[in-house]
Amino acid sequence: MAVKRTPFIAGNWKMNLDHLQAIAFVQKLAWSLADAKHDFAEAEVAVFPPFTDLRSVQTLVSADSLPIGYGAQDVSAHDSGAFTGEISGAFLAKLDCRYAIIGHSERRTLHGESDTEVNAKVKAAHRHGIVPVVCVGETADDLEAHGPSAVPVAQLRAALDGVDGSRGIVVAYEPVWAIGSGQAATPAQAEQVAAALRSVIAELLGDDVAEATRVLYGGSVKAANIASFLREPNVDGALVGGASLDIDEFSSIVRFKK
Ligand code: PGA
Repeated sequence: MAVKRTPFIAGNWKMNLDHLQAIAFVQKLAWSLADAKHDFAEAEVAVFPPFTDLRSVQTLVSADSLPIGYGAQDVSAHDSGAFTGEISGAFLAKLDCRYAIIGHSERRTLHGESDTEVNAKVKAAHRHGIVPVVCVGETADDLEAHGPSAVPVAQLRAALDGVDGSRGIVVAYEPVWAIGSGQAATPAQAEQVAAALRSVIAELLGDDVAEATRVLYGGSVKAANIASFLREPNVDGALVGGASLDIDEFSSIVRFKK
């Protein structure tokens, strides 16, 4: 029997909103969703603030029992030691982070993060009970040279090498050319790659894990296009950048109607 995957709407704030702004934002988002009587069983929501906001978000979410999850935008491959500037999964676990984004294209491009490093970070997240949100996606040049699926499939194969599927994983397909460009992929393109990624998960981690794993689409997702992506059978949610910084817009995305 097919497993019902709860749609997941994840807001990647990138380097936006300090900890005071984060408190106001999460509080208002919770009010907005409560006013709209959002059913959290229908779509899970999580925000991914900068590291310096996480303690404040944790305090607010736990004090008010808000049904909003949160995670980090990265995690170190190492658990402790001489790694100036890095943040360990152990620290994130202490802040009750449920998730960590790993291998976002901005980390791969601006910080030279390799597939090997992404794989090590996925394992580091798992060591601390954190679910990795593994990002993969092709550039415009990759798309022209190899078609849409080849690069994301290769990146996911590398990211999942030797990973224990029972520890939970989320995959985000984010074509680099669609991120922040206003030019989203078509739902059919997203579906094609999401299906290919699910096959990789099945091959490496087994059919049950593949069936249970949420594959998100990311890249210029807005309230106006979210439903079209969620109608695709292999797309289980979205990783939202720019539009996650506007409370009304993000709240509308979370409350998508297929
Ligand atoms: P965008 O970013 O929604 O602004 O295109 C998505 C992302 O980078 O995760």
